[in-house]
Amino acid sequence: MNNRTCVHCEDTFNLDSQLKRSVGGKINECPDCVIELQTEIKETIRAVSSGDGKMACIQILKFQNEDDAELYRKGWDQWSGWNNQRSGSVHDVAFTKVGENSGNGNHKGKS
Ligand SMILES: [Zn+2]
Repeated sequence: MNNRTCVHCEDTFNLDSQLKRSVGGKINECPDCVIELQTEIKETIRAVSSGDGKMACIQILKFQNEDDAELYRKGWDQWSGWNNQRSGSVHDVAFTKVGENSGNGNHKGKS
């Protein structure tokens, strides 16, 4: 464990966690803030919501550049969300899934 305190939200995060390594950012920024504030500029991180409300979850995806992210976003908007309905849009975009927050997941934070 290599705990740090985030300069943005003052939350404690593990610098050595897989998520933190994936999203990048500075050593004093938690992964959530890196994604939210988009402080990591080397690669493009996008949070995409999926699901149909009740089971909505956020997928955190990493793209190689801004164009790919936009392409994915556009494809996603047109996409109905069914895996078997391959229109060839979003599947053509190269991306890495770096994280996922399910709607009923344990939201981090201090009480
Ligand atoms: Zn933070």
